[in-house]
Amino acid sequence: MKKYDVIIVGAGPAGIFCAYELVKNRQDLKILILEKGRGIANRKCPKHTNGGRCVHCKPCSITTGWAGAGAFSDGKLSLSHEVGGTLPEYLGVEETIEMIKYTDQIYLDFGADGEIHGETLTPEMEVIRRKAIESNLKLVHCPVRHLGTEKAQELYRKLYDFVVDKGVEVHFNSAVQNLILEDDKIQGVKNGKGEYFADLVMVSVGRDGADWLMKECSKESIGTEVGVVDIGVRLECRNEVMKDINDNFYEAKLIHYTQTFDDKVRTFCSNPGGFVSSEYYDNDLAVVNGHSFKDLKSDNTNFALLVSQKFTEPFKAPIEYGKHIARLANMLTNNQILVQRFGDLIRGRRTTSNRLYRNNIIPTLKDAVPGDLSLVLPHRILKDIEEMILALDKVTPGLASDETLLYGVEVKFYSNITKVDNSFQSTSVENLYLGGDGAGITRGLMQASVNGVLIAREFLKKIEA
Ligand SMILES: Cc1cc2nc3c(=O)[nH]c(=O)nc-3n(C[C@H](O)[C@H](O)[C@H](O)COP(=O)(O)OP(=O)(O)OC[C@H]3O[C@@H](n4cnc5c(N)ncnc54)[C@H](O)[C@@H]3O)c2cc1C
Repeated sequence: MKKYDVIIVGAGPAGIFCAYELVKNRQDLKILILEKGRGIANRKCPKHTNGGRCVHCKPCSITTGWAGAGAFSDGKLSLSHEVGGTLPEYLGVEETIEMIKYTDQIYLDFGADGEIHGETLTPEMEVIRRKAIESNLKLVHCPVRHLGTEKAQELYRKLYDFVVDKGVEVHFNSAVQNLILEDDKIQGVKNGKGEYFADLVMVSVGRDGADWLMKECSKESIGTEVGVVDIGVRLECRNEVMKDINDNFYEAKLIHYTQTFDDKVRTFCSNPGGFVSSEYYDNDLAVVNGHSFKDLKSDNTNFALLVSQKFTEPFKAPIEYGKHIARLANMLTNNQILVQRFGDLIRGRRTTSNRLYRNNIIPTLKDAVPGDLSLVLPHRILKDIEEMILALDKVTPGLASDETLLYGVEVKFYSNITKVDNSFQSTSVENLYLGGDGAGITRGLMQASVNGVLIAREFLKKIEA
């Protein structure tokens, strides 16, 4: 029987930082990390050598493997407690701020860039904020530390070396299939290779594993609640259009409550000089995303426009809802990402290759298929996006031009929330701790990492009690 003190399921930032905090304090613990994907050196996306085309690897190297979705992410560490998750609801604002500082220092220790973008508000930023107010947009102040994709990989590789050197066992290609419970207490986990037992288990499977986790929760009667569903598009325009915002904020987080439906729409994950990308869920469902590299730059800026929908009873399947919409888009494009010009969308006509290449902007996602988003997204979501773009156009003129590209669909699968107490222990199963994006608690690198540190500290308290 394989027995450990702690098992961590999923080696994304939440799992890694949990392991880090544990071994930093106790090197005598037997810790196992089970990860569905590959080691960081083997996480190669064939798209980079294949003209930007996805070949549907199983599992996808972009979203799974050491460092999880964080490895190929843009590596923007949001240093505001208002961004990237709901930790303040569990810890309070002050402790969240303290924990972000603590975790940021770990990132610095492992090689993160010392520069922080957007730390103090300059007069130019104040002008942008005034324009935002005039346009009924809330500007969230969020200083950002930018790692860049290459540097993020290097940093997480160093964390791998650190924890393995201190005795942590890491098994790749080891997707957990089941939790092992007895009398509402976790005993361990099971995968295709065997059963593993531990006193304490953390499950941090990210968005990639959220669906599996929710099914497991439903099977084992582990408490969850329905969260919000975030669905929208990724907008791409030329850098000139976003210059003021990019130069001053790197990333401006803007929120708008739309006139028609009073829905919340927000900008998310902006990549100045970046590239639009596709990622695959369940290995075959194409959804859009974006990233940027520290050195390689494009002429375009991309960011997501996400509409948050909070559903009520009897609706219980936000992830399925999001996937259903993504599947509709995939159906029209033979499993690629759909792209439409804003001008075509508001005129009610599809974008064609001919219309796409009339513009100043050249799409960075080469295999996107020109089409019609109104055949995919519900009217309400499209109307929200249209109103958001018109509001943003007053802050950054040119955004509502005909040539602005909208890629669909972007869906965030973090919407179901596991019921946990303030120590992140499941309210239904003793010694089972749920963290990170997959548990519906966080939505970004920094808060996921903080969540990992916090769960490690809870483990240390239990072990030392
Ligand atoms: C393209 C992209 C760009 C992003 N850019 C940014 C950014 O710039 N800034 C930011 O703050 N955030 C960004 N994010 C989000 C960020 O990456 C996530 O919020 C963060 O990685 C969440 O950490 P996590 O540990 O909770 O989950 P993840 O990083 O998703 O890791 C979960 C891990 O669990 C593994 N797993 C899943 N199921 C199982 C299973 N059954 N058994 C074992 N292992 C399993 C997965 O393979 C994965 O490695 C980006 C995400 C993407 C996809």
